[in-house]
Amino acid sequence: MADLPTPRPGDHDVLTIACREFVELVTEHLEGTLPDAVEQAIAEHLELCEPCVVYLEQVRSTARALRTLPEPTLPPAARERLLDVFTALHGREGSAG
Ligand SMILES: [Zn+2]
Repeated sequence: MADLPTPRPGDHDVLTIACREFVELVTEHLEGTLPDAVEQAIAEHLELCEPCVVYLEQVRSTARALRTLPEPTLPPAARERLLDVFTALHGREGSAG
């Protein structure tokens, strides 16, 4: 009888979201167009990840400022700035804290 590797104990089918995915989803999150499962995952991510909370606030205030513009999404420049802030908050990949 082969001893198959078992799934991790406590393996729950909770959807998890990485910081990168959160960045991609943040606009839809603010618009409230995401499925409940994703919203739940985002809420859980935000509880664990303070930089993403800060990032969310940045996007929220920017989106509010741009609300009167016809563009439904952030212009590339604003988006890049936000990503820059986000990267700065998170630190560079590979840096050993
Ligand atoms: Zn995060």
